[in-house]
Amino acid sequence: RESRRSGSRYEFFRDEFTQRAREQVYLSTELRRALDAGVLTAHYQPQVDLSSGQWLGIEALVRWHHPEQGWISPGRFIPVAEWAGLIRCVGEQVLDIAGEHYRVWLEQGLEPGWLAINLAAPQMEVPGWGDQLLEQLARIGMTPDELELEITERLMVKPSETIVNDLNELREQGVRVAVDDFGTGYSSLHYLTKLPVDRVKIDRSFVADIAECQRKAAVVESIVTLGNRLGMEVLAEGIETEAQRSALLGAGCWQGQGFLFSAPMPSRDVLASWGVHEQ
Ligand code: C2E
Ligand code: MG
Ligand code: MG
Ligand code: MG
Repeated sequence: RESRRSGSRYEFFRDEFTQRAREQVYLSTELRRALDAGVLTAHYQPQVDLSSGQWLGIEALVRWHHPEQGWISPGRFIPVAEWAGLIRCVGEQVLDIAGEHYRVWLEQGLEPGWLAINLAAPQMEVPGWGDQLLEQLARIGMTPDELELEITERLMVKPSETIVNDLNELREQGVRVAVDDFGTGYSSLHYLTKLPVDRVKIDRSFVADIAECQRKAAVVESIVTLGNRLGMEVLAEGIETEAQRSALLGAGCWQGQGFLFSAPMPSRDVLASWGVHEQ
């Protein structure tokens, strides 16, 4: 702080920069350790039919509890994992964990629907990643049609031809593809013409004030129309209130997820919400 008053602007930015770099190095070291120790886990949020509340699918969200820092949010460590080249390892561990939980749910008679997994762009840039994913599915006893991949458009300005081809091959095997955070990137519409997509996930920022803002409601309605014209389903994220739920239904969007239905929860609570109580 002193440097801001006494020093130059340059020094201030340099300090910020150094602090950022230090945090990145610290977090990547700690993350590498967490991956070696196998302590990452996942929480799960149901994706539901907005009129009946019935589960359509369930999204796995990675969780990291650090011995000193407590819970470190994926918003903080996923970018670091990408930077440090650890994201593929994170992705593989999350699918292993989620696949194992998913198998237990099915054994216990739950009908969770599809399992949605978040995928960072660098995970798709490695040649052969699609085949590796199919191999991992076979290894953990999941069929491709049980899996949905959520891809964030923000991270991929221009999907390469090989990524498009890989995604198409996965889709031929039954894997579904969703575009996450739709509407927040520069190239949202361009994306839909290029990428093979089964579901569009409308970003939370459009849902937040949909009940009060007619413009937001009009945008959501247009995304639904566009998605349907392109043969895609449309799901809204971040639904927190009853008013948002009914505004979304009014705009023709009938799939969603959010705190209104359930916050992300550990597997134990997924089971409990179906009346199954583990010992
Ligand atoms: P996302 O995939 O768009 O997930 C939605 C985020 O919003 C989650 O945050 C979720 O906990 C939160 N959320 C859900 N419902 C509500 C709601 O009603 N209101 C509000 N305010 N928030 C809600 P989370 O778990 O912190 O994850 C943040 C982001 O980190 C995810 O955004 C995703 O992009 C990334 N991420 C999470 N898990 C993974 C993973 O396993 N792999 C990769 N590559 N990225 C992941
Ligand atoms: Mg997601
Ligand atoms: Mg999202
Ligand atoms: Mg998001």
